[in-house]
Amino acid sequence: MSTPEQDIDQGDELNPFSQMKKRLEKAAKLINVDSGIYKILAEPYQELAVSIPVKMDDGSLRVFTGYRVQHSIARGPAKGGIRYAPEVNLDEVRALSAWMTWKCAVVNVPFGGGKGGIICDPRRMSQGEIERLTRRYTANLLDIIGPERDVPAPDMNTNAQTMAWFMDTYSMHTRATCTAAVTGKPIGLGGSLGRNEATGLGVAITARESLKHQNLPNKGCKVVIQGSGNVGGLAAKFLHEMGHKVIAISDMYGGIHNPDGLEVPAVLKWLKEKGKLEGFPNTESLDNAQLLALDCDVLVPAATENQITSTNAEDIRAKVIVEGANGPTSDEADQILEKNNVFVAPDILANAGGVTVSYFEWVQNRMGYFWEKKDVLNRMERILVDSFNDVVESAKRYNTSPRIGAYCLAVERVAYSHKMRGMYA
Ligand code: NAD
Repeated sequence: MSTPEQDIDQGDELNPFSQMKKRLEKAAKLINVDSGIYKILAEPYQELAVSIPVKMDDGSLRVFTGYRVQHSIARGPAKGGIRYAPEVNLDEVRALSAWMTWKCAVVNVPFGGGKGGIICDPRRMSQGEIERLTRRYTANLLDIIGPERDVPAPDMNTNAQTMAWFMDTYSMHTRATCTAAVTGKPIGLGGSLGRNEATGLGVAITARESLKHQNLPNKGCKVVIQGSGNVGGLAAKFLHEMGHKVIAISDMYGGIHNPDGLEVPAVLKWLKEKGKLEGFPNTESLDNAQLLALDCDVLVPAATENQITSTNAEDIRAKVIVEGANGPTSDEADQILEKNNVFVAPDILANAGGVTVSYFEWVQNRMGYFWEKKDVLNRMERILVDSFNDVVESAKRYNTSPRIGAYCLAVERVAYSHKMRGMYA
């Protein structure tokens, strides 16, 4: 029988699925997971690759490639977003899917992990083309999705409208309106109040708890944020409201910096109107590499994977990193950050506010009864604060980093489900 170590493909530092496996291996060793169960956890439960023919506006036919990966359904239906981007690839979707399994287990919501993606550039497509792409992709997935099987949500370049089309296509096939088939829907169509801000607010709450844990002040800290979308933009808003000084923020074109602090509401208004941050008054521009190396208390990577690696981890001057994005830091970078005493609140904890409120959305859809926004956000905050404490406690128990502590907690919970369910046939 092979051991966890023997099963690991060391892969390369920029392969997210190899990175996921490295963390899983470390946690599995610490908690002494049965080697058979480890093998189940190291690979996806099910994956589907589909060709998606779409009639384009000019009358031509294009065929896109899409994926849906279900890493685990041990604790409940697979749960996870759908990403539309030119860089989507199967190993990225596998990693994102596994991270969803661990994230749902860290916050203890009854879901497994899944993720989907389509290789496309939505910025070069019309709304009609994106709608036809979404509907055909949904039809391709019909055999494996549904409220009890796999519940998608938005991710990069998908939104509430995409989820409405997805839900409608699913419902046309099942001949009944099934709002619980996806989360992140428009509020008027079964969406949950608070879902839009949940991830960004969760990141801000995790930053607050991390600062407290590190005996740093709860106001006036210097904050740097990479990415200004749903996660980064809203994390900036909430950290600003908490009284911290957001000194720099970026988008895919670069960043803006003012050491005295940015007027975040004005920055977000500018971004909405102009489509990019560049040119915001009284700021100097800097590239994403310079932004990550700024002297600050809190760094929030909230853009994409592989931003902090062995090539730039030594440059990081933040005291605390709160991972808004999935997979922004490599395992190699973790070793350097740990040596330099940087506290890292890992992605599978820090950005779990989104899936927590997605869980509430799914519950509300199945009950047919909707909660007030304050109830949604208060319940999310309680879960995140408890989970933060659980992760810190787990890291202490196993004498490891918060990231591996979070993996230990999650892997223990998923392994428990496998053990208690037993092996079918
Ligand atoms: P988004 O599309 O709304 O925003 C992404 C932001 O990152 C934009 O500002 C974009 O300009 C910037 N960006 C993209 N590529 C970049 C690059 N190479 N360098 C620098 N900046 C870049 O996406 P989002 O929903 O905010 O998601 C951001 C990250 O958070 C992703 O990793 C996503 O998987 C993760 N996440 C999102 C949610 C959610 O609820 N939206 C939940 C959990 C995790």
